[in-house]
Amino acid sequence: MKQIVVISGKGGTGKTVLTASFAAMAEGAVLADVDVDASNLHLLLHPEIREQHIFRGSRKAVIDAEKCTGCGLCLPACRFDALIEGRDGKVSVDAMSCEGCEICYHVCPVGAVALEPHVSGTLYVSSTAYGPFVHARLGVAESNSGKLVTEVRKKAAQIAEQEGRGLVLVDGSPGIGCPVIASLTGTDLAFIVTEPTPSGLHDMERIFELTSHFKIRAACCINKFDLNPENTARVEAWCRERSVPVAGTIPFDPAVPESVVRGVPFVEHSSNATADEIRKTWAALSELIA
Ligand code: SF4
Ligand code: SF4
Repeated sequence: MKQIVVISGKGGTGKTVLTASFAAMAEGAVLADVDVDASNLHLLLHPEIREQHIFRGSRKAVIDAEKCTGCGLCLPACRFDALIEGRDGKVSVDAMSCEGCEICYHVCPVGAVALEPHVSGTLYVSSTAYGPFVHARLGVAESNSGKLVTEVRKKAAQIAEQEGRGLVLVDGSPGIGCPVIASLTGTDLAFIVTEPTPSGLHDMERIFELTSHFKIRAACCINKFDLNPENTARVEAWCRERSVPVAGTIPFDPAVPESVVRGVPFVEHSSNATADEIRKTWAALSELIA
C-alpha cells in the first residue's frame, strides 16, 4: 500500500482543490483529510458518515474542591495561568488554558488534583462516491492536532489493509509545524503544491527541508503558474537543482472557485485545459509512486 500526502507551505494554495480532483481520479484509494485544524475536503467529497470515534488527545487537571485546602501552592507553579483562585480560597482549573503538564498534580500536598482524559475532537469514517474517507474535527482551542493527524492516518491505512486498497491519498496540513510532520512521517511521496510567489518558493524550501530530513521523496506542482512566469521559472530551476520532479504546472482559472461553490472536484466540473493539466499531473504522480 502506497501513501501520497498533498501539502503546501500555507493555506489557500489550491491544495484541497487538487486533492479532490485526484480523489475523483484515484480509483480504489482510501481518502483522508489531516488538515484537522481547518478541514474542508469534505465540502468537495460529500461524505456520508459511517462511524464516529471520540478522540481523547490530552489530559486536563481537575481539582477536587472537597480535598483542596486553598493553600495556594499550585497557583504560581502553573506556567499557563490555568488555575483560578475562588473567593473561598479554593482553586479550580480553566480547562481551555490547561495544557495537562501535571505540575499542579505534583505540587499539591493533599492529592486534590487529578489528570483526566479530555475529549479533543472527533474522527469520522465516511463513504464517498470516490471511496472510503477518513476525516476529523478538532475541538475549539484544542492543540493536539499532531496526535489527531496520526490517528486519521492510522485509520486510513487500516481500512486500506482491510479492503485491499493500494493507495491512501491524504490532504495534508499546511505549514511546517507538528501536524505537518505527523502528516508526512512514513509516507511514500510528499506532493508539494506551491504558487509562483517569493513566499511560495520560500515555503517550498522549508517543506523540502522537512521532507529531506525525514528522507521522504518529494514532487511538486506550481499552481496558477501563469500569474508570474518569472517566479515559475525560479521555482522550476530550484526544483531542477534538487532533482524534485515538477509533476504539473496548472494555470490560473476563474472556473476553480465556481467548482468550489458547486462543491464538485474540478475535473468533474470542467473539461477545459486546466482540467487536462490536473489529469496530467495525476498521471505523473501515479507514475512516480508506481
Ligand atoms: S496541569 Fe499544568 S497547565 Fe494544567 S492546571 Fe496544572 S499546572 Fe496548569
Ligand atoms: S496545591 Fe492543592 S490544596 Fe493547595 S490550592 Fe492547589 S489544589 Fe488546593
